Amino acid sequence: MPGLHKHPNKHTDPDALLAAILTGETPVFHPNTGLPIGEEQVLSPSARAGLEAPRFCQLCGRRMKVQVRPDGWDAQCSRHGQVDSSLMDRR
Ligand SMILES: [Zn+2]
Repeated sequence: MPGLHKHPNKHTDPDALLAAILTGETPVFHPNTGLPIGEEQVLSPSARAGLEAPRFCQLCGRRMKVQVRPDGWDAQCSRHGQVDSSLMDRR
């Protein structure tokens, strides 16, 4: 099957972040603070309620490019791809 082999030095996976969130994978880094999960997190009330857009990639802790729209938000990690709030509301 072509495209199955990934370049060993390239760790970019444009679906990784979305897949991790949709499958409920335990985050490695907190999406609001960028700190490793397990460390003390200081969250604003709205972040605690899950109302804020994630600012950091939960897989690598990089600061993501976030765009807040009237109807939601989208956030992009340069390595792990893009997530959109509209995709998460679908349960
Ligand atoms: Zn990432």
